[in-house]
Amino acid sequence: MSRTEIAPCHSPAEVAATIARARSHGIHLVPRSGGHCFAGRSTTDGIVLDVGPMRSVTRVGDVVTVGAGARLGRLYDALGDRAIPAGCGPTVGIAGLTLGGGLGVLGRRHGLTCDSLVAAEVVLADGRIVRCDDERDSDLFWALRGAGGGNFGVVTSLSFRTVAAPELTVFHLHWPVRRAEEVITAWIAEAPDAPDALAASLLANANDIMVFGAAIATEPETRALLARLTALAPDRSVLRRLPFRDAKRYLADRPDEPGTALSKSEFFAGHLPADTITALVANLRQDSRTGEKRELDFTPWGGAYVRTPRHATAFAHRDARFLVKHSVIAGSERARAWLTRSWEILRPWGTGGVYPNFPDPDLRDWARAYHGDNFARLTEVKAEYDPEGFFRFHQSVPAR
Ligand SMILES: Cc1cc2nc3c(=O)[nH]c(=O)nc-3n(C[C@H](O)[C@H](O)[C@H](O)COP(=O)(O)OP(=O)(O)OC[C@H]3O[C@@H](n4cnc5c(N)ncnc54)[C@H](O)[C@@H]3O)c2cc1C
Repeated sequence: MSRTEIAPCHSPAEVAATIARARSHGIHLVPRSGGHCFAGRSTTDGIVLDVGPMRSVTRVGDVVTVGAGARLGRLYDALGDRAIPAGCGPTVGIAGLTLGGGLGVLGRRHGLTCDSLVAAEVVLADGRIVRCDDERDSDLFWALRGAGGGNFGVVTSLSFRTVAAPELTVFHLHWPVRRAEEVITAWIAEAPDAPDALAASLLANANDIMVFGAAIATEPETRALLARLTALAPDRSVLRRLPFRDAKRYLADRPDEPGTALSKSEFFAGHLPADTITALVANLRQDSRTGEKRELDFTPWGGAYVRTPRHATAFAHRDARFLVKHSVIAGSERARAWLTRSWEILRPWGTGGVYPNFPDPDLRDWARAYHGDNFARLTEVKAEYDPEGFFRFHQSVPAR
């Protein structure tokens, strides 16, 4: 029987008291913001410290300070004519997303969500409440940007530099899956090297392939940016110019179900050979069954994602062109075998890097996969801020 206790915290002081109680009784504690972790790391048999009640949003000039319990949808509502580069899922927590990086439609122009972070408040394992930035506790601030999810302390608030919320042209282009090889080939050639204004992702399942996303551009400009892909004559295409908030709602118009799928992913710095794409698509289509929901999700990288130097923050994946996530609805051994096979087909061409926000409990060398050569400095920061290892470092102890 599960002994899980959910501990909602309304202030940093309550967070410190909850940590002290967990420590004195030797109870495992994990922080939870939006609860969307793919690997279930915000769940434990011990105490789930829920930062949900801390969700205020305060703007002073161009800087917004957000309680760690805020979810993306409400945050965008509160920001009005300003924006931060972040994801679309309205119930995703700003804390979990930022601490692992944070990709979204403004990312190729403005970088990761964590690249816009200017300060954070953190409650450490010893109960100290620390406000860190580039000047104060700068090592901790460095580590939080890409490796902060559950590893060093409980973040209670985050301050971001904002940008003016741009109008966006959103788009969807659809083809039947039999066109998948040519569409994937064209996407890999075009989307990762496109101008920063364009964020065109690719999603393929056993029936359908679609390129979708948004451009910081007018509709005619967006058509021009997508010309090489529309030249492949999609069956259906939709382009719409929308205010920023409406564009975010439009792009989030997919079921937002936490934790239902198993996934594996990797970054890629170059291109994929034609026979690899053929094998990937054949595996996607082979003997697929309703309910399994096999999916390949290609995200364009490059642009501002890679303009921040690799050692400037803990986020290590600054050399990639694109990211591929393979996912399937969990349950059967068959589904799991499909997932592993799909991931292995692409592995010879990957960087070995894995996005920390798409955690994979089966990774053998998780330290290198998530953090590359930033891991050595992370262990030093860990020794300074959590010397007893109260917060478990990623997969050093499996979450489930
Ligand atoms: C529907 C959906 C849409 C998504 N869309 C995007 C997207 O567009 N872009 C993108 O980059 N990612 C996206 N993701 C992935 C998402 O970034 C990760 O799942 C992220 O970890 C979710 O954060 P969370 O706060 O919701 O989850 P949680 O499970 O609450 O937290 C994730 C991790 O961070 C830790 N953590 C949470 N709060 C704190 C805190 N206050 N202090 C310290 N550690 C904390 C947790 O312990 C856990 O290890 C999406 C996921 C889903 C399910």
